[in-house]
Amino acid sequence: MKISLRVKLTAAFISLALLLILLFSFVANSLLEQQFTAYIVNRLAQKSQDLVTLVNASYQDWGRVWYEEGMHSIGTNAMLDGLILRFEDADGKVLWDARTHDDGMCSSILEQMAVNMQEHRPGFEGGYQETLKPLTDQGITIGYLAIGYYGPYFFSSQDLAFLGTLNNYIVWMALLSSLASLFLGQWLGWRVSRPITEVIGTTEKIAAGNFGSRASCKVNTRELVDLTDAVNRMGRSLEEQERIRQRLTSDVAHELRTPIATLQSHLEAMIDGVWPADTARLTSCHEETIRLAGLVGDLEQLMQFENQIQKPHFKTVDLDDLIRNLLRNFENDFRRKSIRLSYDGSMETVECDPDKISQVLVNLLSNALKYTNEGGQVKVRLSGSPEQVQVTVEDSGIGISEADLPHIFNRLYRADQSRDRQTGGSGIGLTIARAIVRAHQGVLAVKSRQGKGSVFTMTLPRKQA
Ligand code: ADP
Repeated sequence: MKISLRVKLTAAFISLALLLILLFSFVANSLLEQQFTAYIVNRLAQKSQDLVTLVNASYQDWGRVWYEEGMHSIGTNAMLDGLILRFEDADGKVLWDARTHDDGMCSSILEQMAVNMQEHRPGFEGGYQETLKPLTDQGITIGYLAIGYYGPYFFSSQDLAFLGTLNNYIVWMALLSSLASLFLGQWLGWRVSRPITEVIGTTEKIAAGNFGSRASCKVNTRELVDLTDAVNRMGRSLEEQERIRQRLTSDVAHELRTPIATLQSHLEAMIDGVWPADTARLTSCHEETIRLAGLVGDLEQLMQFENQIQKPHFKTVDLDDLIRNLLRNFENDFRRKSIRLSYDGSMETVECDPDKISQVLVNLLSNALKYTNEGGQVKVRLSGSPEQVQVTVEDSGIGISEADLPHIFNRLYRADQSRDRQTGGSGIGLTIARAIVRAHQGVLAVKSRQGKGSVFTMTLPRKQA
């Protein structure tokens, strides 16, 4: 069963409030019971002492005789406090007795106290108790005061009313705090669940293919802001992926359409007997298939680099050595095109994948060869600092127009001048080269002016992190 965050939070708040109230009322009641009982016992002792003092003082006021009216007044007043008095003279003769005066009242007082105590403390073992206090005048015993009560102690109706009020307050507190918890839980649940619901809505839209959907978070809870940001980032990245996928599909389709159409028409012409199926025609078809296979291979390699399937195998390499070897392989091609090739560099060790870095340099050199006219020159330079090394390939070739320059690293992009099939490029070499350099935490940059030439700079960190 799925339970909403709001219900869970509300239930947690209410449970917590009730638990706290329960704990509080338990602690308050047990503390109060102890303190209250001690107070009642003290009050009883104090009242008895006050009565003795009152009778002693009254005896003097009465002219040192036992005044019947006076004893009656003190005795009936004490009954209101739940005390049953008996006055005796020094010889123990009863002078005034509450029981004789009003036995019914005395019994009902004791009964009432017994009911009070049983109500408040079921099983309380109590009964009539009496203490006999000597009465004195100037140090001489003049008589005794017997103070009877429901013992060992009793709660009067006022005492019980006080305890009842206190418990009522606790019940009200429990009710009010449960209500407050209910509102707080609902409110907090709403505040937390609203952005989550929005994020869920956005992810559902993204999952349904609406990659442009974004969630907005109007609360400042860090985790919720992070969650919204993460989902929005995912949306952006999927949108970008989708854009790349669409562009790649159309680019690849566009790139394949022309050679396939050429192949198709050539083959049809040969099948229909319009063209003889001679070596020259078949060779041309074969070259076209080789070009197509190369393009597919390049795309595959690019995909592997971009998706980080292929990772460089790092070694410590002397770039100077590597470049010199590469240049040796190119010397003939440059000479044939009468392009002056020069190199300036000395030993620079760097942590890299030599095969992949060679691939980058081969691409830069073949581009320089391709896009430099006869009689031009190509300069290769290697330099280094403690942290990084730089290789530049500078040519005095056709250059790249300002409009083309930002796009030359894009896959399948070829500048207008090189659209000509004769130059043979597929517009993928530089994309792969940049992916390789990036996999080395390096940068591949270009500066170029149309008609003047281009400078490609590869910067690599000396050590890989
Ligand atoms: P291609 O296989 O077509 O050469 P690249 O990715 O290597 O593909 O290069 C992309 C485009 O950048 C080329 O088609 C060309 O227009 C331009 N380009 C690359 N290098 C040079 C250069 N040295 N001089 C002029 N243009 C260049």
